[in-house]
Amino acid sequence: MARDPRYDILFEPVKIGPVTAPNRFYQVPHCSGMGSDMPATLNRMREVKAEGGWGVVCTEYCSIHPSSDDAPAPYCTLWDDDDVKNHAAMCEAVHRHGALAGCELWYGGFSSSNDLTREAGVAATSMPTWHRSGQTRAMDKTDIRELRRWHRDAAIRAKQADFDLVYVYAAHGYLPHQFLSPVQNQRTDEYGGSLENRVRLTRELLEETKDAVGDRCGVVIRFAVDGLDADLGIRFDGEGREIVEMLAELPDLWDVNIAHFAADARTSRFAPEAAQESFISFVKQVTTKPVVGVGRFTSPDTMVSQIKRGVLDLIGAARPSIADPFLPRKIEEGRADDIRECIGCNMCIVGNGLGVPIRCTQNPTMGEEWRRGWHPEIIPPKTSDVGVLIVGAGPAGLEAARALGERGVAVTLAEATTELGGRVDAECKLPGLGEWGRVRDYRVFQIGKMPNVEVYRDSELDAEQVLEFGFPHVCVATGAAWRKNGIGRSSFAPIDGWQHARVLTPNDVMAGVAAEGHVVVYDDDNFYIAPVIAEKLRADGNTVTLVTSAGVVSPHCEYTLDQPRIQARMIELEVEIVASQLVTGFDGASCALCCAFSGRSSTITADTLVVVTSREPSEGLYTALAADPARLEAAGVKTLERIGDCAAPSSIAAAVYAGHKYARAFGAADAPRRDRLVV
Ligand code: ADP
Ligand code: SF4
Repeated sequence: MARDPRYDILFEPVKIGPVTAPNRFYQVPHCSGMGSDMPATLNRMREVKAEGGWGVVCTEYCSIHPSSDDAPAPYCTLWDDDDVKNHAAMCEAVHRHGALAGCELWYGGFSSSNDLTREAGVAATSMPTWHRSGQTRAMDKTDIRELRRWHRDAAIRAKQADFDLVYVYAAHGYLPHQFLSPVQNQRTDEYGGSLENRVRLTRELLEETKDAVGDRCGVVIRFAVDGLDADLGIRFDGEGREIVEMLAELPDLWDVNIAHFAADARTSRFAPEAAQESFISFVKQVTTKPVVGVGRFTSPDTMVSQIKRGVLDLIGAARPSIADPFLPRKIEEGRADDIRECIGCNMCIVGNGLGVPIRCTQNPTMGEEWRRGWHPEIIPPKTSDVGVLIVGAGPAGLEAARALGERGVAVTLAEATTELGGRVDAECKLPGLGEWGRVRDYRVFQIGKMPNVEVYRDSELDAEQVLEFGFPHVCVATGAAWRKNGIGRSSFAPIDGWQHARVLTPNDVMAGVAAEGHVVVYDDDNFYIAPVIAEKLRADGNTVTLVTSAGVVSPHCEYTLDQPRIQARMIELEVEIVASQLVTGFDGASCALCCAFSGRSSTITADTLVVVTSREPSEGLYTALAADPARLEAAGVKTLERIGDCAAPSSIAAAVYAGHKYARAFGAADAPRRDRLVV
């Protein structure tokens, strides 16, 4: 199909200093959890995006010197000639598809603890580093000169590696941003005090980068026009605007954003998504240079509208380019309906904190392009004409059906309920999780176009029926259900009184069972579900106490960077938070609590208890079938597998991945090629 002419504008080239982006699709720098330690993994991931049509593909944060070290988070480096070689391979791969390659030079300042390199970090002032107990050294004049030299040298290495764009990174609270801040920069020399002085370092870095590489590379400034009060004191209607005015024509491109990345509870001054456009729209009026900015999911029509209304010149994307590396190509080929939309779950940033490669809920191939040789849009065709029965249409079953269907395999998908989607169908009705329904919608839409995939709703299958059908291959994807007895990470013993009628699970709440009176939500799961259930109960009119076995609400959401906002939300909703306590009993009027540290007991009143502790795999069908291999054989069943939550309850991302892996491995057409991530 040809592309819709109303999207032509998205495919116009844009000049950025001495280079020209072939179109307006711009993958802004984003973390990959790979960094310099996994160059092959990283470079292939970036290459696939160029192949998918992104006109510009950037690195993640790329340290200019060992005194800017973010370990254990993986980051790129441009410290020496070996680094040049690795990056040159990325540039070559990206150029092969006609895209530009961009390099985000990075110096952390307060953010870097330097635990790996053991260098003393330097910053505007001597202050504690973000995540550890040490402090930075306050930079003297020699340090500032050295920093400028490191930056210049790194820019030259970037040029040697054949990057087309080189960044001065003055955003997200890193060093140049710290110098800009009236709060964090407390210097009294010519680099502190007046705005002119605080801008000095960024100006010098821009000038020196242009001087060093500007003949062949576009020089980009990444700038957060508003810190959303996260201790930087820069606001879009104050100094943020003035800084853009002062530096307006110096860079070749403005990459602007707002600092919602900072994941600080105090950043809730405005809802960042809503604020995005109104905060950044002034930049284009101030500079004649092109502007790129980031949105959440940007539909092709919104992109066109933002360009036509003069908000942006290039459409910046991190997460949409992760969820669908082929987003531009799909628009170009007139199949925008096939775009796999990002759901905003932030699972893609988790790997960076954990020190493992990026993963994505919507795109199971993300991070697996090199290790497994998975391509987001290409899957080998079937190797034989055998049919598969998939039982259960949650994320695992739907993805298995979709990917097998794409391979041309005849698939029968049986779902017990009327609705498809399993847990995402239920969870997306909870407050704030509406977009999670896209996991279901994308797959149901794709399957709907496949004549070789048959879907049967309202079809709860038991072992007898499965045997009777006699499919040669059976894939059980029946999911899991929240346990009512309260066993979980803190206790292998059930909660006393768990059989009480007013003990509910998240499944009950999601199914619409009303909670009575004052509700205690007990969170021993420590991820996102308990606070969302608490929010729903508040909306239903209940008073709610959130008892958590952890020291903070949702500690696992620290990796998605959502934890501070979730806790702030609970406080805003007047949900009382009781931390570091285990619920050990319930009698219909109160809960017995036990301190997680001292073991000291106490009680709190509760009319209803909602237990969010762990899940029971719904493995009955699988175990019944697996129990009698002779019967399976007699029925003609050659393979029986279980995937997703019914095997091991985990994230939605893990379920989608399991479904995809099953489909790839089916018929052993595409067995994993490598288990290690580095060679
Ligand atoms: P996952 O995350 O692993 O995909 P879900 O819990 O989201 O798991 O989805 C499992 C799906 O399987 C649910 O939609 C559920 O209704 C369905 N299911 C469970 N048991 C059966 C069964 N015996 N027959 C058909 N469908 C089933
Ligand atoms: Fe979007 Fe979630 Fe994928 Fe990240 S992990 S790109 S937020 S769908």
